[in-house]
Amino acid sequence: MESLAILVLLCLPICSAYPLHEAVPQSHPTMDLAQQYLEKYYDFRKNEKQIFKRKDSSPVVQKIQEMQKFLGLEMTGKLDSNTVELMHKPRCGVPDVGGFSTFPGSPKWRKNHITYRIVNYTLDLPRESVDSAIKKALKVWEDVTPLTFSRISEGEADIMISFAVGEHGDFYPFDGPGQSLAHAYPPGPGFYGDVHFDDDEKWTLQPSGTNLFLVAAHELGHSLGLFHSDNKESLMYPVYKFSTSPAHFHLSQDDIEGIQSLYGARPSSDAIVVPVAPVSPRPETPARCDPALSFDAVSTLRGEFLFFKGRYFWRKSHWNPEPEFHLISAFWPSLPSDLDAAYEALNKDSVLVFKGSQFWAVRGNEVQAGYPKGIHTLGFPPTVTKIDAAVFDKEKKKTYFFVGDKYWRFDETRHLMDKGFPRLITDDFPGIEPQVDAVLHAFGFFYFFRGSSQFEFDPNARSVTHTLKSNSWLLC
Ligand SMILES: [Zn+2]
Ligand SMILES: [Zn+2]
Repeated sequence: MESLAILVLLCLPICSAYPLHEAVPQSHPTMDLAQQYLEKYYDFRKNEKQIFKRKDSSPVVQKIQEMQKFLGLEMTGKLDSNTVELMHKPRCGVPDVGGFSTFPGSPKWRKNHITYRIVNYTLDLPRESVDSAIKKALKVWEDVTPLTFSRISEGEADIMISFAVGEHGDFYPFDGPGQSLAHAYPPGPGFYGDVHFDDDEKWTLQPSGTNLFLVAAHELGHSLGLFHSDNKESLMYPVYKFSTSPAHFHLSQDDIEGIQSLYGARPSSDAIVVPVAPVSPRPETPARCDPALSFDAVSTLRGEFLFFKGRYFWRKSHWNPEPEFHLISAFWPSLPSDLDAAYEALNKDSVLVFKGSQFWAVRGNEVQAGYPKGIHTLGFPPTVTKIDAAVFDKEKKKTYFFVGDKYWRFDETRHLMDKGFPRLITDDFPGIEPQVDAVLHAFGFFYFFRGSSQFEFDPNARSVTHTLKSNSWLLC
């Protein structure tokens, strides 16, 4: 799957390398710029040309909105002054979208010790300055992961770092001063993992010009497997901005969560570990018929229904109408409490349970070996740090993952995220308000749990057919 993911990434610039000539014959500089920007970084297609004049729902308006949303601008869908200004700003040459983040098995190094080599140098800075800027940039990532880096001076390193101008032997020719500053390839053999700096920039160690340390730290994030983040505080935000000197630089929480989702935290005691959610006072034992009762997660298990709440779950089987109440740890000692989501992958006779960025597979009363795994191995982008709810549709052999106002669809047969996702929950499940707690699929309906309410959704009628109390399943 890694090769697929990389192919898609590489395909973007290839597929959209020369579409501009016929697109806007009597060109307007702002429209030219916008079209180039959207093609280069947002996978805007050639056949969507000449629609700059159309309104609202046209693909270009949607693309502009997508770009505005990603970069944190007001989503006007218009080329307003803020948008045009941001399009002029220098940035990373790697696209912001590409579908690759929806493939499972995000590429990563399968080892913790990584070599790098500085193949050539810019004339803008003394060699020692380049060496130390790169070393500091690697240390940014070394500090929060188990990864270590060592430099080699000849032969093939995992990460080959070079300066180049214009066409330089890959499908991402540089563009002279400004705009694209550098790019890097995700982990893998050969040129994967490599970093290229545009030597038409004026590289500096200062706030003026293009700060080599900051750009290197960002690009090395790509070399380690991170894609762009839409979080403006993140180092992996695609637009360049000089924020702080290298001496005072620190990664944002978003960057730390992203890289630790791939490699975990640094094991030693001086590690900077992602803080876990604040510990709330130990909850009381939930009462089954409390009218305010909500659930953390709901799943089936071999014909039974499981309703998770805090450290407990109710188990309801067809042959025992009275629900049983148990501690999660009594059945699965290694599972956490306060789960986020759970679903039964019927084709694997497993229940998958989710908490934060991790998930476990349970078969009967055994937690399977090799877990927990990171949710990003299922194909979620690094920006997803937890899942609200998950449900398996046995007719379609698909799993739906709900996150905020969006949902993803996972193909359990091919073990891949389906293309075209995430989509808005409200678009495909009209009547269901976002941020759901849990979802159950039973008797041909989806049951969405949200707080103390439950919505029975008929997928054929595409509408909510009943509203119930969440605990209606527990004979209340
Ligand atoms: Zn980048
Ligand atoms: Zn290159």
